[in-house]
Amino acid sequence: MRDYQNYIDGAFVAGPEAFADVDPTTGRQVAWVHEADAALVDRAVRAARRAVEGPWGRTSVASRAVLLRRIADEIDRRADDLLAAEVADTGKPASVARALDVARAAANFRCFADVVAAEGTESFLQELPDGGQALNYALRKPLGVVAAIVPWNLPLLLLTWKLAPALACGNAVVVKPSEETPGSATVLAEILDAVGVPPGVYNVVHGFGSGSAGEHLVTHPDVDGVTFTGSTATGTGIMKAVAPRVRPVSFELGGKNAALVFADADLDATVAGLTRSVFANTGQVCLCTERVYVERSIFDEVAERLTASARALRLGAPSDAATTTGPVISRAHQEKILRYFAAAEQAGAKAITGGGVPTMTGDLAGGFWVEPTLWTGLTNEDRVVREEIFGPAAALIPFDTEQEAVALANDTSYGLAAAVWTTDLRRAHRVAGRMDVGISWVNNWFLRELRSPFGGTGLSGIGREGGRHSLDFYTETTNVCVTL
Ligand code: NAD
Repeated sequence: MRDYQNYIDGAFVAGPEAFADVDPTTGRQVAWVHEADAALVDRAVRAARRAVEGPWGRTSVASRAVLLRRIADEIDRRADDLLAAEVADTGKPASVARALDVARAAANFRCFADVVAAEGTESFLQELPDGGQALNYALRKPLGVVAAIVPWNLPLLLLTWKLAPALACGNAVVVKPSEETPGSATVLAEILDAVGVPPGVYNVVHGFGSGSAGEHLVTHPDVDGVTFTGSTATGTGIMKAVAPRVRPVSFELGGKNAALVFADADLDATVAGLTRSVFANTGQVCLCTERVYVERSIFDEVAERLTASARALRLGAPSDAATTTGPVISRAHQEKILRYFAAAEQAGAKAITGGGVPTMTGDLAGGFWVEPTLWTGLTNEDRVVREEIFGPAAALIPFDTEQEAVALANDTSYGLAAAVWTTDLRRAHRVAGRMDVGISWVNNWFLRELRSPFGGTGLSGIGREGGRHSLDFYTETTNVCVTL
């Protein structure tokens, strides 16, 4: 049985109590996790403060870029350990975790090593009324002690997406991983220690949200900023918690993402793309498609082909090379998804595939499985089409005109991502640009250039991460104005 302790000031620290970490493929406990109480969270924040005010806060950009590349190399070297921790916690297929989660973790550090090393200083030469000049230049300084709160769906990928730019900018970080997925953040502590990241620069506190490590961290008076990825409801609470201290927040929240399929789309590519965008990570990616709007003339064909594709998915053990799809994260999440399945049925939807719990055998019988599910017969008025399910399910809805498709896609309080499937170049640009979202894909999904802006509008978040957008969040600037 694994034992995940907190990591504070360069050392592993037991908590006063421990809770169980469960493998979602079997429902069996795989680890004990040491919950950090308020005193341990305070120790972590103090350690981070000492680090940021010590030599670490004055390191050169060049030396931090070198360190980030060393971390990436060590992630590659320890890939099997990270993989094992991630798979035990999430139940996702090992092949997916290796190619996506672990590979992206290393890529995140390499990307921000490059970005920070290439970043210049903004400067303006100002003409004065008396004929003189003033030179303005903006100094970037670390934001300070950063609290990073991350969810369970892509634990390592999302943690390193925050940690890499935060360290690149010279901050110290206190991470609160999800209570469902404490493993990879803990292994990462060993990796950072091995390459010489100083004590206090990276700290991990384990626990839950309200009344536990999460709340203790975001309400701590000495935290300089909070970067959060998770649900909109939790984000709202965190915003209130930091409001009295007017601290900056960066929020990557939920989504209710649309795909728009036009009659001129390349259907082979579209069906393959939709299969990924609806069912990747068992639908547990904030960017997953849950609303598929299809031009009426090809609606039946798309429904039929996507159904066949969904039925070809193989639910199974992470180590089985044939497995495409894992379980959902927990019993509670499975029950939540099944409540949406019941709501869809009540609203008169037809489940053209799935709609329930599959029969699994052997060890997998105790896991949290959900059938890949597609519905027809729903409209934008139905709750299932308005609220984020965060599971392997989508509604297929027909449209007649481009204008109607755009209106239906934008008829949501979320605004994270959209995918447009068409071979008409002018329509592609026109429709993609009219999506009220942070990321608008054309004929692809989940393609990410890590220097490009990433984030959401509406209930999907505040701010953008990626490339220099991340540097903006993780730094404070002081503009120096000198008369010449
Ligand atoms: P969640 O909001 O329940 O939990 C996220 C994290 O917040 C966990 O670590 C949790 O312990 C912590 N937390 C909960 N309550 C807290 C509180 N009061 N104070 C401080 N911390 C608290 O989200 P989840 O269920 O882990 O993740 C799924 C959600 O994340 C979905 O809504 C999904 O769309 C979203 N998500 C968004 C993105 C994005 O980039 N936009 C990426 C992945 C996931």
